[in-house]
Amino acid sequence: MTPTPALALLRAALAAAERGWPVFPLRPGDKRPAGHPERHCPGAGRCSEGHRTPEQRATLDSEQIAQCWQTAPFNVGIATGPANLVVVDLDVPKDETDTPPTEWAGAAEGLDVFAMLCERAGERLPTETYTVRTRRGGQHLYFTAPIGKQLRSTANALGWKVDTRAWGGYVVGAGSAVGGASYEIIHDASPAPLPAWLSDLLAPKPAPAPMPLAELSARMRNATAYSTAALRGELEKVLSAREGGRNRAVYFAAYALARMIRSGDLTEAAVSSELMSAGQSIGLPAGECRIAIRSGFVRGGATEASAA
Ligand SMILES: [Zn+2]
Repeated sequence: MTPTPALALLRAALAAAERGWPVFPLRPGDKRPAGHPERHCPGAGRCSEGHRTPEQRATLDSEQIAQCWQTAPFNVGIATGPANLVVVDLDVPKDETDTPPTEWAGAAEGLDVFAMLCERAGERLPTETYTVRTRRGGQHLYFTAPIGKQLRSTANALGWKVDTRAWGGYVVGAGSAVGGASYEIIHDASPAPLPAWLSDLLAPKPAPAPMPLAELSARMRNATAYSTAALRGELEKVLSAREGGRNRAVYFAAYALARMIRSGDLTEAAVSSELMSAGQSIGLPAGECRIAIRSGFVRGGATEASAA
């Protein structure tokens, strides 16, 4: 007998909780958490002492789960942080215009990018772990979180269509259905420990040492006061860039300074080296930093586009 959807969802929620993964309800047929978002918090009921996020509400308590899922056919949200999980979320393109950046050229979807990433790291694709196929054909690879590191969710940090869900995030659990398409376990194994090399890539960088801008004039001995001031201004912008805007900040700085390289006031090598240090000191990976600088230089006419 096929269980009713509501019962199947309750079972899915209980099964996740039995694995030790705290769950919370998602809206029926949807990926969004049930209940109110923080901006509409009534400050009453379960939020009488302040808004409680799904991550805070997620539970392993089977009675509480049964009570909740009896009220509606909720999808199953798994709070990855409290579940001690890091889920690698391999997505597929939204449509044919959703294509990879040059760094991942040739990749058709997140799984390809992840395979390329493993190859670059000289590591095997870690597929021997609990895996869920998402409703659009992507995959969720579940790993146990490293001990002593509190990893947060990331978006595109590892590569195109490769996100991770950890603290501050959640995944739609197996057994859920969104828009009529279901999330299904395709490899029913215990989650493997997150490979150390991935954990290193995802670990928050230690706070960067402040870049000593005071020494800049000494390093730029042959540059004019004007160009040194311009360089300093651009570096300051980079250093104050926020996560999410760091790449762009480096790109625009390279673009702005390209003019002074063209006029011979600054050398490409010097600007490049200063921007590399500034970019990396705010946590931008060296590879991304180099690409952003290169693109800015090319766009600003400081250098020819190379056939790299
Ligand atoms: Zn609330």
